[in-house]
Amino acid sequence: MLSLIRLPRVFTINQVPKVFHEDSIISGYRHPRSSATDCILSLFQLTNETLNIWTHFLPTWYFLWKLVMVVLMQAAWQDSFTWPLLIFLFSCCIYPLASSCAHTFSTMSARARHICFFFDYGALSFYSLGSAIIYSAYIFPDKWVNGFFHQSYIPIAVFNTVICTGLACYSRLGLPFLQYNHDIVKRFPECQSPRFSKFLRVVAFAYPYLFDNIPLFYRVFLCEGEGCTDNDTNILHYNHIALAFLTGFLFATHLPERLAPGSFDYIGHSHQLFHVCGVLGTHFQMKAVEQDMVTRRPWLLEHSIPVTFSNSVGAALLCLVLNLTIIILFSLPLLSAPVCQEKKCGKSPKKASAKVCPCC
Ligand SMILES: [Zn+2]
Repeated sequence: MLSLIRLPRVFTINQVPKVFHEDSIISGYRHPRSSATDCILSLFQLTNETLNIWTHFLPTWYFLWKLVMVVLMQAAWQDSFTWPLLIFLFSCCIYPLASSCAHTFSTMSARARHICFFFDYGALSFYSLGSAIIYSAYIFPDKWVNGFFHQSYIPIAVFNTVICTGLACYSRLGLPFLQYNHDIVKRFPECQSPRFSKFLRVVAFAYPYLFDNIPLFYRVFLCEGEGCTDNDTNILHYNHIALAFLTGFLFATHLPERLAPGSFDYIGHSHQLFHVCGVLGTHFQMKAVEQDMVTRRPWLLEHSIPVTFSNSVGAALLCLVLNLTIIILFSLPLLSAPVCQEKKCGKSPKKASAKVCPCC
C-alpha cells in the first residue's frame, strides 16, 4: 500500500530558504513549496514537523470530547455559571487545532508559513482569554472576589490579547504595509535579528500568562490567613504552574537540540516537548478549575460577580473579532502578492521562495 503512495522527499537545512530554518534542527525539512496534499501526506512520514503536528492534533480531540461531555451532561446552556468552562474548553480545542494546522501547512510557501503562524498566535491569545474568563469565574481567592482588580480583570485580559497577538505577529515581519509589503522588501525582525524576534514572542506569551495568573499565584503562593481559598485543588494548580514554566523554558531555550544539533531533528526536540508540556499543563489547569468550580459553587454564586453574557461569551466574541482583525491586517500585504511572482521562482527548494523572502 505504502509503495503506491510516493511520500515527498525531505531536505537538510542548507537546501531550504532561511525563513524555514529551525534553530539546531539540521535535517527532515519538507519542500518549501509543498502542495497541500504533500503537507497532509507528511503527517504519515517522519519529518521534523510530524510530531509537532500530532502532539497538538490528538489533544484537540481530547479537549473537544471534554467540551461535548460538559455540553451534554451538564445542560450547560441553561446554567450561566457553566459558560466560562465552555469558553475555556472551546479555547482549549482551538489552540492545538490552529497549531497543528499551522505546522501541517507552513511549508506551502514563505507567505503561507507567516499566515499559518499568525493564526497560531491568535489562537494562543484566545486561549489566554479563555483562561482569564474561567479564572475570574472560579479561582479568584475569596479575599479578592468582587474587588476592583476582579472587576477590571476580564476587560484587561481582552486588551492583553490584542497586545499579545499584535506583538507576536510583529515579531515575524514587522509592521504590515510600513515595514513589509507584497514583495517583503523591508523585512524586519525574524531574519535580521532572530534572537530579538524570539524575545518579542516570549514576551508576547509570557505577559498574558503572568497577568492571568496573578490571582492564582497570590492564592497559592502569597496569601495568608482568612479568605485564601486554601483547598484540595491547590495541588492540581501547582502541577499546572510547574508545567507552564517548563513549557516556557523549553520554548525559550531550544533544549535539548541546542546541546547536540542534528540529534533531535525528528524525535525529542524542544518544540515537541513544548507542545506536550503545554497540553499537560492545560489538562491540569482544566482539572483544577473544574474542581474549584464544583467545590466553591454555592459560595461563589452568593458572593462573586455573576456570570453574564458580557463577561463571558461577549468578551470571547470581542476577542475573536479583534484578533481576527489583527491577523487579517498582518496577512493582507502577503495575500496581495502577485501570484506570478511565486510561480516564477522555480522548483529547487532554495530558489523557491527567494522572491517572497529576501532572507533566503
Ligand atoms: Zn508549535
